[in-house]
Amino acid sequence: MKGYAMLKIGEVGWIEKDRPACGPLDAICKPLAIAICTSDVHTVWEGAVGDRHDMILGHECCAEVVEVGECVKDFKPGDRVLVPAITPDWNSLEAQAGFSMHSHGMLAGWKFSNFKDGVFSEFFHVNDADGNLAHLPKEINVVDACMLSDMVPTGFHGVELADVQFGDVVLVIGIGPVGLMSVAGANLRGAARIIAVGTRPVCIEAAKKYGASDFINYKNGTIEDQVMKLTDGKGVDKVVIAGGTVDTFASAVRALKPGGRIGSVNYLGSGDYIKIPRVEWGVGMGHKNICGGLMPGGRLRMEKLGSLVARGHLDVSLMATHVFEGWDELPKALEIMKEKPKDLIKPVVVLEK
Ligand code: NDP
Ligand code: ZN
Repeated sequence: MKGYAMLKIGEVGWIEKDRPACGPLDAICKPLAIAICTSDVHTVWEGAVGDRHDMILGHECCAEVVEVGECVKDFKPGDRVLVPAITPDWNSLEAQAGFSMHSHGMLAGWKFSNFKDGVFSEFFHVNDADGNLAHLPKEINVVDACMLSDMVPTGFHGVELADVQFGDVVLVIGIGPVGLMSVAGANLRGAARIIAVGTRPVCIEAAKKYGASDFINYKNGTIEDQVMKLTDGKGVDKVVIAGGTVDTFASAVRALKPGGRIGSVNYLGSGDYIKIPRVEWGVGMGHKNICGGLMPGGRLRMEKLGSLVARGHLDVSLMATHVFEGWDELPKALEIMKEKPKDLIKPVVVLEK
């Protein structure tokens, strides 16, 4: 089979590999549509997870099942499925402790295009099919379905980590596709005011539709100064970080009220340390919590988030701004994600409708 791979740090290309083997609990799937992620760019061009050789890229898609192992109960060849970016080993101790995304090691629930070949290939392997796949609801088209692999679950996880409550004033730093889903998630959770940080006009327009009321351009002065101006010096109850760098945490701590929470889902591709400003962190006693996490994957979450889309509570159709058709367009779609033109939110490649 052919797949689009990271050849080494900074280099991508088509390669040929054997079709993966299907274990008793597993499934082999073929993608119907695939989406490119900012994380693919971090992985290839920043080498953020370390060097990888001939590793097939991609962790966002919806798919058709082509083969299942003899112990798989709920899926059969021909089923159309949602595929989470994170596919934990559900029998691991970490999963039993509530952190399935770290099953068998930190971040090890993130297997596609990290510890094994990803989904940018004619066929891909899914471990623990009953625990990780979800049936694709008929109301969701293949382009929207790709947003459920990672963008919705990650953006929403930022909101969960920040513990957004009714009436909160929430700062969402970064309104690429992940941050947009954080805005939508904070809105669904009952935030009273959502202040969004970003500059791409297409993202600002989408963020307004998802519920953001105030906007900050991080190029026009510090985020914290602009937040204080907007909130009469009070600061915000919660911060979701979905963009920026290791230095963004300092701004988030400064913008946060005592007792507030920061939920970060940003992938920190460079820098050795995160600095926390001592005074604004209450000289160590400010009850300002900082929590960073990889999105939870698995079937239950896919089914629940999928039902939000299928039942019309969440419209993800604003996200796929660049839709391509056919495998040949995949390199172009990845290149666009790397270049991030101003009108881009998310590139998707449709293979079969
Ligand atoms: P994008 O690059 O599309 O969006 C990043 C956003 O951050 C943009 O709004 C950008 O603004 C803004 N930004 C850039 N620099 C700064 C800065 N210095 N200060 C404040 N804001 C800034 O990324 P995605 O939405 O695709 O992904 C967001 C992050 O989430 C990525 O790091 C990605 O790898 C990570 N991720 C994490 C996952 C997890 O499970 N934890 C899963 C998936 C993704 P502008 O409008 O100017 O571009
Ligand atoms: Zn992703």
